[in-house]
Amino acid sequence: MSMRDFPKLELHLHLEGAAPPAFIRGLAREKSVDISGVFGADGGYAFRDFGHFLQVYEAATSVLTTPEDYARLVTAVLEESAANGVIYSEVFLSPDFCGGSDVAAWREYLHAMQEAAARAEARDGIVLRGVVTCIRHFGPERARAPALCAAETAGAFITGFGIAGDETAGRPRDFTWSFDLAREAGLRLTAHAGEWGGPVSVREAIADLGVERIGHGVRAAEDPRLVDQLAETGVVLEVCPGSNVALGLYPSWQRHPIQTLRERGVRVTVSTDDPPFFRTSMVREYEELARAFGWEAGDFLEIARNALDAAFCDADTKGRLADRLKDHPT
Ligand SMILES: [Zn+2]
Repeated sequence: MSMRDFPKLELHLHLEGAAPPAFIRGLAREKSVDISGVFGADGGYAFRDFGHFLQVYEAATSVLTTPEDYARLVTAVLEESAANGVIYSEVFLSPDFCGGSDVAAWREYLHAMQEAAARAEARDGIVLRGVVTCIRHFGPERARAPALCAAETAGAFITGFGIAGDETAGRPRDFTWSFDLAREAGLRLTAHAGEWGGPVSVREAIADLGVERIGHGVRAAEDPRLVDQLAETGVVLEVCPGSNVALGLYPSWQRHPIQTLRERGVRVTVSTDDPPFFRTSMVREYEELARAFGWEAGDFLEIARNALDAAFCDADTKGRLADRLKDHPT
């Protein structure tokens, strides 16, 4: 089995966090902005710890300022994903960074990104769908504007709403207004929890926000009753092992709980989060999982099917993706 060719579905990817370093460097040069400090000797993003990661992330993405920049970003990111065998990518989009969460501005950014996604689909067959996110550490009041942007543009392309950012800031229940609005607009819901927050953060995201997926969620493994609850209710985890290992949540791939969660009946998927920042890719995730846990074609097919079931896209799109999974010889 070629890890590159195996059809992959990714459910947890931050658009800005997926920006290839060469793309950001080029854009900075065009705009005569000096962000050379964010790059290491090998040309990749370089940071010391989580706090520094956030600074580097912010500096790198500060060069993205127009709808055209975002269209080019979508093109660069999807090229990279398609080269990793990704056939479906659900990407977190932040209206806060695309026109300051003004609905009219957001529509312009969205239009540019959607056109770029359509070109990538025509060229490489990769399908992109957007999940609008609010930023937790900006607070519940500021989360309302991106929720409104999401509700106003809900449809075939914008399929979901979620929350990212610092998990230790505030409580999920502070954000119910935004999540209720998104749900009423027909959007599907996910929330980052159980990465920096413990099992209780996962419980609260499910109980207070009514999400059907959890971004990360891996620290649920610390609470056997919560693991049973996830298995029984079918809440899907968007697991990003390479991100967790890179940020020191677990000391090694072997010590990552993804295999234990799976064995206990939890529906897990595999994604890259902010791949160039964590020196990872979907191919690398698959290679490391095969090495750490002996996963083979059947295991990866199960992961892909979990992702297809849990994807927020419409039934037609799912049908087309299911055909591509079926056609793949394993
Ligand atoms: Zn994330």
